[in-house]
Amino acid sequence: MSSADGFGRFFLPGPTEVRPEILHAQIGPMVGHRSPATERTVERLQRGLRPLFGTERPVYIAPSSATGFMEAAVRNGVRRRVLCLVNGAFSERFATIARACGREAEELTVAWGEAHDPARVADALAGGDFDAVTVVHCETSTGVLNPVADIARVAHDAGDVAVLVDAVTSVAGMEFHADDWNLDFVLTGSQKALALPPGLALGVAQPSVLERARANPARGLYFDLLAFERNLEKSQTPTTPAMSLLYALAAQLDAIEEETIAGRAERHRAMARTLYAWVEDVRSRDLAIEILAPAGFRSPTVTCLRPPPGWSGSRVQAALAERGFTVAPGYGRLRDEMFRIGHMGDHTVSELETLLAVLEEVLRR
Ligand SMILES: *Cc1c(COP(=O)(O)O)cnc(C)c1O
Repeated sequence: MSSADGFGRFFLPGPTEVRPEILHAQIGPMVGHRSPATERTVERLQRGLRPLFGTERPVYIAPSSATGFMEAAVRNGVRRRVLCLVNGAFSERFATIARACGREAEELTVAWGEAHDPARVADALAGGDFDAVTVVHCETSTGVLNPVADIARVAHDAGDVAVLVDAVTSVAGMEFHADDWNLDFVLTGSQKALALPPGLALGVAQPSVLERARANPARGLYFDLLAFERNLEKSQTPTTPAMSLLYALAAQLDAIEEETIAGRAERHRAMARTLYAWVEDVRSRDLAIEILAPAGFRSPTVTCLRPPPGWSGSRVQAALAERGFTVAPGYGRLRDEMFRIGHMGDHTVSELETLLAVLEEVLRR
């Protein structure tokens, strides 16, 4: 059931619902960003963030939405020519950013709702003269999870190719291993699986990317990863940090450490299983709902569903809104055909069950 404070009714796949305790944690004092107090906060954040990303490297923190670090990935990590793996709206955005930053971008596209096949990625890389690949781990527009570790393996087998990964709706919603998976750059944002207010971009670069940045004097200033690296050596940030959001992040990392990363990942898998079982159940009772992503490639954090005939995504959204619940319509070209449920962040199985019970009532009306 939704708690007394009303938490548990907002299921957008970003921004996600933020617990009142986390919102209140933002009420901390403003302190100088070169002060020992800020350095202690940054040190605390590093301790919590590294295991979440699965890295020994420092985790960069910028006052920006996640798209800012997609641009940082390109400016620092792509020399000249990049293969962009596209299977939805956010992976398409990576190609748009690459071109806007003056890089040559070629798209390898599979249908929205499908995952990328590492063998096809290997074929596309062979002889294509690419120095980087972009991939979105969890395509929030479709609910598809791409096999990033396997994609990274074929990319590195193809030569000096940097693997740049948008992990916006996967980090903090599942176990993530940036180092073991050999991902050269990984980014996320605060307002998705971390369940914080929007406004922070977080990222991890391997030395391979820093080397590329060093060789590129036109990498820009705001997202110069060398500046993030240099400042973090002193537990500082290149420019004024979004202090209030850092306080919220520190509070959330306390909560994550208490739940454990494995426990948080299991809670997300349990929510996903609950949703799949509900779909099976209502389908067996003549409600024609379908999950877009194929089994085996489904995200534990977001699910994109085709509603029964006669329903558009916006109509599902509006009907649930009347009952006080928020879900999203499909994204971009899937807006009318689909609707999406974000089951990530601090939601629980029982809150999701409440939503699904109301959804069934609404759809059978
Ligand atoms: C939400 C999202 C983004 C964009 O995040 P902003 O914070 O709005 O810039 C990028 N990639 C994915 C996969 C997302 O879900």
